[in-house]
Amino acid sequence: MTAPEFSLAIHGGCGVLPRSTITEKFAADVRAALHASLAAGAAILRDGGSALDAVEAAVVVMEDAAVFNAGHGAAFNEAGGHELDAAIMDGRTLEAGAVTGARAMRNPIRVARGVMASGDFLLLQGDGADAFARHNGYDIVPQSYFGTDQRRQMLAEMKALAAEGQAVKANEAQKHGTVGAVARDRHGNLAAATSTGGYTNKPVGRVGDTPIVGAGTYANNATCAVSGTGKGEYFIRKVLAHEISARIQYLGHSLERATADMVAELRDWQCGAGVVAVDRYGNVTLPYNTEGMYRGSITSLKPASVAIYE
Ligand code: ASP
Repeated sequence: MTAPEFSLAIHGGCGVLPRSTITEKFAADVRAALHASLAAGAAILRDGGSALDAVEAAVVVMEDAAVFNAGHGAAFNEAGGHELDAAIMDGRTLEAGAVTGARAMRNPIRVARGVMASGDFLLLQGDGADAFARHNGYDIVPQSYFGTDQRRQMLAEMKALAAEGQAVKANEAQKHGTVGAVARDRHGNLAAATSTGGYTNKPVGRVGDTPIVGAGTYANNATCAVSGTGKGEYFIRKVLAHEISARIQYLGHSLERATADMVAELRDWQCGAGVVAVDRYGNVTLPYNTEGMYRGSITSLKPASVAIYE
């Protein structure tokens, strides 16, 4: 079988609205945003651009879309504010950059890329991350930019459930979400990028898996690139994205097997989870264990396709 010259896979999180409650309009907005994200990344890859540029561009589109929990549309924390996490990784050099607890930058993934380019530090947090963004000319926005009516309603629902001791009954969409992209370019380089508002009603200062290299985000040209979605605490405990890479590298597992096994292991821990991943041959996989995952992919051999449920 011919291998694709380039591949791109994206997700808008496994925190999907239940099929029974999603409106046609919301589903159409999700699909449009996923298509726009794929188009932005694929345009770069088609022209021979880098996987790193492609995943950044694809994630920026989803950060700007109100329907996903990242950037505009990010989840509210318990204090009614937003703290954003993002990471990007270059599989060619294993360089990475990340921000966590960011409150003012419009596009955390762009700033994570800037942190990576500093070549000196890898992970910036809180005020320091926002100061870095300000100092380097990235777009700065007020906290009100991130909130949407839908997310505000989810916070109220989560607080009500928590007050009754029933937080576990929340649906995946009420709880969380994330956006991410993985790519292999025409030069054989891999990259991964992930960005999130975390989970609804999270404690102030909570850090998830997204900005932790090896947990929610990982890329290595020798194996694969991975971006995850699901309760980050479990991804950190499993060092999930790196574990997928390690199983390919040391156990000789296929991309499909390594990712499916890890997603199943999280199901065994009652963790709703999904990943998108691409290997060094350009194979793409998008497994999840929830009712659905906002997702899409495109390769040089396969037109763009997006999906929400099975
Ligand atoms: N992984 C994200 C976090 O824990 C949430 C999600 O992907 O749904 O912050």
